Amino acid sequence: MADYKNLIDGEMADNGEWLEVLNPANEQVVGRVPACGKDELDRAVAAARRAFKEWKKTTPEERQKVVQGIAAAIKDNADELFRLLTTEQGKPHAQAQQEIYGAAGLAAAQSTLTLDDVINQDDDTRLSRTRRVPVGVVGGIVPWNFPVMMAIQKIVPALISGCTIVLKPSPFTPLTTLRIAELIKDVVPAGTVNIITGEDSLGPLITEHPDIDKITFTGSTATGKKIMEGASGDLKRITLELGGNDASIVLPDADVEKVAEQLFWSSFSNAGQICVAAKRIYIHEDIYDDLSKAIAEYAKGVTVGDGSQQGTGVGPIQNKKQYERVLELIQDAKDNGYKFLTGGDKDPSGTGYYVPITILDNPPEEARIVAEEQFGPVMPLMKFSTDEEVIARANNSDYGLAGAVWTKDTDRGVAIAEQLETGTVWINEFLHINPLAPFGGHKQSGFGAEYGVDGLKEFTYPQVITVKRDAVV
Ligand code: NAD
Repeated sequence: MADYKNLIDGEMADNGEWLEVLNPANEQVVGRVPACGKDELDRAVAAARRAFKEWKKTTPEERQKVVQGIAAAIKDNADELFRLLTTEQGKPHAQAQQEIYGAAGLAAAQSTLTLDDVINQDDDTRLSRTRRVPVGVVGGIVPWNFPVMMAIQKIVPALISGCTIVLKPSPFTPLTTLRIAELIKDVVPAGTVNIITGEDSLGPLITEHPDIDKITFTGSTATGKKIMEGASGDLKRITLELGGNDASIVLPDADVEKVAEQLFWSSFSNAGQICVAAKRIYIHEDIYDDLSKAIAEYAKGVTVGDGSQQGTGVGPIQNKKQYERVLELIQDAKDNGYKFLTGGDKDPSGTGYYVPITILDNPPEEARIVAEEQFGPVMPLMKFSTDEEVIARANNSDYGLAGAVWTKDTDRGVAIAEQLETGTVWINEFLHINPLAPFGGHKQSGFGAEYGVDGLKEFTYPQVITVKRDAVV
């Protein structure tokens, strides 16, 4: 077990008070991180404010170089980092590796993004130009399901846009992020990136801090609402990436065998703990029996276990609270007599937060396991008859994050996609996020966007400068 320090003003620091971090595969303590409060936050914010004065004057090329340094530090240490990530998060090694390389790739891809000036008018009377000005000090708050990716997708656009950042990892998964902090300590100018850890109670201190200008948050819808409220005191800018209850729609022309495996992983990657995982699968009645059988058959070959062991496909749930919530949803489905194709028989007394692969056979739309975001290895399969019906059912949700359509007829797939009330829709794939395209949720899945130029703009405000050319002064 090791102690991991915070990054404040270019130095690795601790305050002598510690939080323990568990491995969800065996519930053993694997590391400790500083338990910070207002004092450490004030120090980090003051450092970020000081650093902002110089950082905002840097050129795009200078910022690009620093961000590419972050990408290289992650890539060069990927082996150590992905193992540590599995230890604290639980995901199987191959998926942890994808996250680490994905974060390095994201940083490299976004490093070249720029926000160019826009000329609004250029004639004899006037020159009017819009420039994007960095908002200042950003507070970043991230969840436990993709702790490294989420941290990088906040740090990188903050730096690229000319802001500085104070980032708070989830108390459940801070270790890999703090190890990255140590690796980039001398890559980023002091104070531009500060990473501090603490309980959930550190979150509202960030949201309400008078010297933070913007909050970028990824996490649950319930917390997102609190953040919006907390940020309203001084009208901070906010970007919220929240929960989802994504529908996957399988049309009758889909190839049952091929689609079964892809549908399985669209729900069960990262043990279902993905905001854009397929959480409701609607299958056309003509292929429902064959496809549900094929998915259940595929599931039999997938091992649930410790993510550090070879052959594990689905790891544990990341923390006890979420584990108990998923078990409660499964119990509710049992109590209501819904039919299970796999799972439903968990003995919750063992060590490690393991939930068996759970697939439900056509539960009603109002079942909690359908209507709520499960965020676990649970997949309800439902039958539908017509496109109109399935579009209405897919849209019947407070969430609006993502969705997918599976069909050989891509025109029909796109026609359905255009009627879904979500920020992202995939046709014949899932979970593909383009670092240069906007990613964000509609309805209660979020506010604003991350990624691409749209995401970058959220770290800035537009300033219009007009020069009157024919003025008499
Ligand atoms: P959470 O909301 O419980 O916690 C997220 C972060 O917020 C943590 O760092 C936590 O310490 C902090 N926090 C808790 N209370 C706070 C408060 N009152 N004020 C400020 N910060 C506070 O979410 P979680 O359980 O860690 O993550 C799971 C959720 O995240 C799921 O709903 C999932 O769908 C969502 N998520 C969304 C996306 C997306 O991009 N839309 C991506 C990943 C996860």
